[in-house]
Amino acid sequence: MKYSDEFRDKQIATGLARAIRAKADPQRSYRFMEFCGGHTHAIARYGLEDMLPDNIRMIHGPGCPVCVLPAGRIDMAIQLAERPEIILCVYGDLMRVPGSRGASLLRAKARGADIRMVYSTLDAIRIAEDNPAREIVFFAIGFETTTPPTAVMIRLADKKGLTNFSVFCNHVLTPPAMRAILDSENPVEIDGFVGPAHVSTVIGTAPYEPFAEGDGKPVVIAGFEPLDMMQAILMLVDQVNDGRHEVENQYRRAVTRVGNQRAKADVADIFALRETFEWRGLGTIPHSGLKLSPAFARFDAELRFAVDEKIVADNPACECPAILRGLKKPVDCKLFGTACTPETPVGSCMVSSEGACAAHWTYGRFRDHQRRLAS
Ligand code: SF4
Repeated sequence: MKYSDEFRDKQIATGLARAIRAKADPQRSYRFMEFCGGHTHAIARYGLEDMLPDNIRMIHGPGCPVCVLPAGRIDMAIQLAERPEIILCVYGDLMRVPGSRGASLLRAKARGADIRMVYSTLDAIRIAEDNPAREIVFFAIGFETTTPPTAVMIRLADKKGLTNFSVFCNHVLTPPAMRAILDSENPVEIDGFVGPAHVSTVIGTAPYEPFAEGDGKPVVIAGFEPLDMMQAILMLVDQVNDGRHEVENQYRRAVTRVGNQRAKADVADIFALRETFEWRGLGTIPHSGLKLSPAFARFDAELRFAVDEKIVADNPACECPAILRGLKKPVDCKLFGTACTPETPVGSCMVSSEGACAAHWTYGRFRDHQRRLAS
């Protein structure tokens, strides 16, 4: 496939792996966090960790939107969906994310709530037009990548004069989450970040400059293909070896320093910063989530239906909080692969393919088995 195959070339990957091995200083270790769940998935799917020397460790970050959605927000969505006048429109991944006490949207649907899976924001608009006597609520989640499509949807609903349409807004921001990881009480040690691909097409590379200049952490923005990742890791090794801490852009075919100005302007128009937002695993982070701006507040489902903010504790046996902060790996959780599988997720990291536990379940556990056989 054009634009994919050329970034999956085995010979080039082997060459990059050789270059990384040659440059990695055996006297030290390198700990790089890939912020984005798309990168976590790529690392597991293509077995990239197996191509790295033992002293380079990839640490999974919190950049999976489904994984960081706290149980309280799922409970709020269920509360909305159980109102008889509401049709709740959601992306499929959300259906199995655990709320409190084993609740999920899938179970609420089985009990009779009108919850419909959609593939795009336009599906939700169409459902609103087809059901003028019902209230349509779109469950919006995601980082800066998926916020512009939500903005376009709200503008379209406004243009069409839809009065039965609103958004349960759970959009979150990448830089405040990176800041929370670095400033946490018990931070994981990180020598550099692999910066997200799609998020950076929207926000550009400039928002990462404080982490490089102020915190001394190199950042390399990388695409999602295996060669992108290997090249980004090589660039990080070079920066660490040279004592540099800069923002470098491996994903130049899609990312610029300023990002997508039009998308950013649309988002700034339609959304406003929340004072705080709760993240699964990371706690409450200031200025890390979005709500509808005053000019578009009539589309805000939380205001329209007076849903109360809910903060509920995660299942204490689930290690998602430590995994999302890079402190533990999926196999450190005693529920991994026993009580918790993609069919029976106990925590959010086992739901989406971008979640660290789901990625390791799908690809990594076979490599673990092979390693055990080989040793
Ligand atoms: Fe949570 Fe399941 Fe991952 Fe354990 S295996 S950390 S319970 S998602």
